[in-house]
Amino acid sequence: MQILNKSLEDLNISSNDEVNEKLKIFFEEISFASKQFNLTGLNGWEDIRDTLFIRSFRYSSVIDKFFSKDQYLESEKIKILDLGTGAGIPSIPLKILYPNMNIKLVDSSEKKCHFVESVIEKLNLKNITVENIRAELLGISSDRESYDIVLTRALAKLPTLAELTLPLIRKNGIVVTAKGLLPSQELKDSEYVLSLLGSSKSQILKITEPNFISEDNFIIWVKNNKTHMKFPRRNGLPKKDPIIKSS
Ligand code: SAH
Repeated sequence: MQILNKSLEDLNISSNDEVNEKLKIFFEEISFASKQFNLTGLNGWEDIRDTLFIRSFRYSSVIDKFFSKDQYLESEKIKILDLGTGAGIPSIPLKILYPNMNIKLVDSSEKKCHFVESVIEKLNLKNITVENIRAELLGISSDRESYDIVLTRALAKLPTLAELTLPLIRKNGIVVTAKGLLPSQELKDSEYVLSLLGSSKSQILKITEPNFISEDNFIIWVKNNKTHMKFPRRNGLPKKDPIIKSS
């Protein structure tokens, strides 16, 4: 817990005993469930602490640059979506830090949704919902263009990700995704689809703190215009046939 608390300090995030206790329970739940089914490839406290918890905390440093902490922690005001949440990453570690955050977790895997639902109950988290649905269908549901912030990690390559996420955010909303090393080719490949979907160019924010784990390059998209109703295309197409214009 010492390393975890030091990491939070490095990221200018205050912590307390309750945060530590809840992260410990979350770790135990992940470890237990990982033995039952394919939840995450990670094993052991250090890996889960570094890759799942600390790297999730880094999202908060990115959001800070676009919304004031008070604003996005204010429960009803800012609507956040964690798309392709898997074991609850990055949203559950963030929610443990910021209990008032208003967030929805979405995953196409029913098992993973059940897992995060049980964690939410165990940790007694409020203002948090889970939906088992594919991003392509969520994008044409009443959730379309309703989110202020969409967070994702390890969901898809950038051109696919753009089509899955941008229809879901409102004008001036942001999409934030963590990539480790700078994904130069993916950035280039996504330029065309971003303009098609109403987003400005990718902004990149490198977060190196805490520096004992490798850096993350966060890709941020700000939406300038509404997305045409023909996006997202039907299930599976954004991944199978990503929109890339060769120059
Ligand atoms: N964000 C988590 C999980 C990444 S794995 C982490 O960083 O650890 C990607 C997750 O996205 C998987 O759980 C998978 O079930 C989900 N997923 C993949 N395609 C999806 C889609 N089209 N819609 C919703 N979820 C999807």
